[in-house]
Amino acid sequence: MSPFDQGLGERLKLSFSHLDGKELLAAVLTGDLAGKVAVTSSFGAESAVLLDLVAQVAPDAPVIFLDTDELFDETVEYRYKLERQLGLTNVITVRPNAEELAQAAGLWQTDTDRCCELRKVRPLARATRDYVALVDGRKRAHGFERQHLSTIETGGGVIKISPLANWNAEEIEAAFAARNLPRHPLVAQNYRSIGCFPCTQPVEPGAPARAGRWAGKAKTECGIHTLVLGRDGAGI
Ligand code: SF4
Repeated sequence: MSPFDQGLGERLKLSFSHLDGKELLAAVLTGDLAGKVAVTSSFGAESAVLLDLVAQVAPDAPVIFLDTDELFDETVEYRYKLERQLGLTNVITVRPNAEELAQAAGLWQTDTDRCCELRKVRPLARATRDYVALVDGRKRAHGFERQHLSTIETGGGVIKISPLANWNAEEIEAAFAARNLPRHPLVAQNYRSIGCFPCTQPVEPGAPARAGRWAGKAKTECGIHTLVLGRDGAGI
């Protein structure tokens, strides 16, 4: 296991905080860090933009796809379509183990935090503990807990890199158009942020993209970006 390296995090901030998008990805997915930094992707509504940039700079970079066993069929199909079309050669599917699935059965109705812990946080923690940093597609424009996001963040046992943190909705749309990127099939049905089937709804035009996640509940994040459960090997 590669321990969390606060010094590396500070060096990355010093060297690369002025970069974003493709330039930041090139800085952290090639050279000395090649193979040591993983991309995490939901293959959701906006994921194609980040994955397209990853494919341009490092198509063999590890891309971790978390299959919670509660995903839309359309998401799984879209994963294979994007993987093929973009030429990504190292997409890794991560799943909860049998014990976690058994414990999580039906929990989305009664305890979403525990359900996310079992289906997402623990499997992802296991799958990522050998990487020194994780890249994700979060953006400040998503609002809620993401509105103060920086492109490189450290703390809680992990270095997180968000190359699209500064991008707004118009820039994401422009990237889809400029690169002729395929859309997640559910976007046509007004799904703007797509996670597990039981906890994702379409949103009204003009509503925040993530308003359709855990709609009606105070919950806005699944925990994979806010918790670091198990990166020290405990509890997973
Ligand atoms: S998003 Fe819903 S179904 Fe998916 S892990 Fe979280 S609570 Fe469970």
